[in-house]
Amino acid sequence: MKTIGLLGGMSWESTLTYYQLLNEGVKETLGGLHSAKILLHSFDFDEIAELQRDAAWDDAGEILGRAAAGLEAAGAEMMLICTNTMHLVESAVRAHTTVPLLHIADATAETAKAAGYKKLALLGTSFTMEQDFYKGRIAEKYGIEVITPEAADRQIIHDIIFEELCKGDVRDSSRLEYIRIIEGLSAQGADAAILGCTEIGLLVKPEHTAVPLLDTTAIHCAAAVRVALA
Ligand code: GLU
Repeated sequence: MKTIGLLGGMSWESTLTYYQLLNEGVKETLGGLHSAKILLHSFDFDEIAELQRDAAWDDAGEILGRAAAGLEAAGAEMMLICTNTMHLVESAVRAHTTVPLLHIADATAETAKAAGYKKLALLGTSFTMEQDFYKGRIAEKYGIEVITPEAADRQIIHDIIFEELCKGDVRDSSRLEYIRIIEGLSAQGADAAILGCTEIGLLVKPEHTAVPLLDTTAIHCAAAVRVALA
């Protein structure tokens, strides 16, 4: 079994889910007392969020890259960035390491492709919804169209992530907003919705809507378990 390096704490609310799902996935496959081999570098998210707000992506890439190098030196044999947004700096992370990095958008697009989805709705931070590193990758590499909510709804989604979900605050009123937005995009032809922020799965679950959901945290973990055990 490979040792999985996690760049986490962005936020720690979702890193908890990574820790749980990776361990459950290994236990499910290997049984007995087996659990995942994990090395975690957990950031103070306030420092990272400030760099995001300042669009200081080079600095952020350097910080994540150095942390990844530390995980590799400590024995990590594969790497996960436990946030969709910070895949914006995945090339910096790759530049600092030699072990494979499992890209969260690749894992998600492969799941979507296997399900036969042609058009996906994307919910995430404004960085993820508005820049090209995520939807462009899915469109170009996998030929899947990605649509995003209109500006006012993008702001609502972004604010709920930073003001509530990253602080562990899960509200029914926010869930209703997310479902309204997801169902609106489904009415525009989306086959499924990407929960493209690792905290959204804490708020919206399959029982809340008939629209199929691609929970990037769960998908990323399942892919990591397959690679770790291959
Ligand atoms: N965890 C979130 C994501 O998947 C948001 C936090 C961040 O901006 O890194 O994008």
